[in-house]
Amino acid sequence: MQAWVVDTPGPIDGGPLRRLERPLPEPGPAQIRVRVSCCGVCRTDLHLAEGDLPPRRPGVTPGHEVVGRVEAVGAGAQRFALGERVGVAWLGRTDGSCRFCRRGDENVCTSPEFTGWDIDGGYADRCLVDERYAYALPETVSDEQAAPLLCAGIIGYRALRCADVPPGGRLGIYGFGGSAHLTAQLALAQGMRVHVFTRGEHNRRLARELGADSVGAAADPSPEPLDGAILFAPAGDLVPVALRALDRGATLAVAGIWLSAIPPLDYAGELFQERRLRSVTANTRQDGAEFLRLAGRLGIRATTVEYPMADAPAALADLAHGRFGGAAVLHN
Ligand SMILES: [Zn+2]
Ligand SMILES: [Zn+2]
Repeated sequence: MQAWVVDTPGPIDGGPLRRLERPLPEPGPAQIRVRVSCCGVCRTDLHLAEGDLPPRRPGVTPGHEVVGRVEAVGAGAQRFALGERVGVAWLGRTDGSCRFCRRGDENVCTSPEFTGWDIDGGYADRCLVDERYAYALPETVSDEQAAPLLCAGIIGYRALRCADVPPGGRLGIYGFGGSAHLTAQLALAQGMRVHVFTRGEHNRRLARELGADSVGAAADPSPEPLDGAILFAPAGDLVPVALRALDRGATLAVAGIWLSAIPPLDYAGELFQERRLRSVTANTRQDGAEFLRLAGRLGIRATTVEYPMADAPAALADLAHGRFGGAAVLHN
């Protein structure tokens, strides 16, 4: 089978990915082998290819928004039938025994394994997944539509809960790519007022089309104080900007796995009055299952751009240069 691997991490335009012929992987105990139909492109894949995220294993295959069908099962795997459609997401395995797993916070497990970072992911013809970490997908959602839900959607859902906006409250969204455009739909469906701050005309147009209450440039002041905000852009210099936009007692949740340096904060203007700054780290399987059910029920629609699997580097380069709005999906 063919698989993309991160060869030597570096700038995406320098070609850090290589496509290799690999033997078909055999599922081990509790694993299933998935024939990949499509795989979403997440900014994390770009951070990995460019070396912002240190490689956890040389020659790993990226991709953690995988939709495909069960092709083979390992010993003891019985959750899914052969041919059944499944989703493979970022959280690939946890130890189930650390103090965080035991209290239900497996997203901060002390020895997790992630798809497309530790475990080979979906930029390939096939991938393996521990069946306990795979998702059943809502039948009403196509393969292409399901892919971005698996990371962009799930992480956005967790970030929205972390931002802790009361019903009908005012949410700020900083950066408007794959995850933000799904999260905005969820927030609007829940009756929030949504203010979007982003660079790039593609992104601003998409935000307006989805019904955002206001759309401005990334560092614009908010038209009204925010009850909560999510920073999706990997730009640390927006942290003080977003904190200043918060109302008293409100929370800024940083959704990304990587953020550029945060400038010094001004305590009086940016943190005092019980403003909170927090990160969002991965997700629990419960977050994933809840979000997928909601997305199916609420009809959350990803705006997608299709690429053949052979063009994975071009998709990542287009993401890096902001050449599309919404989410890219690679197809086999
Ligand atoms: Zn754990
Ligand atoms: Zn991701």
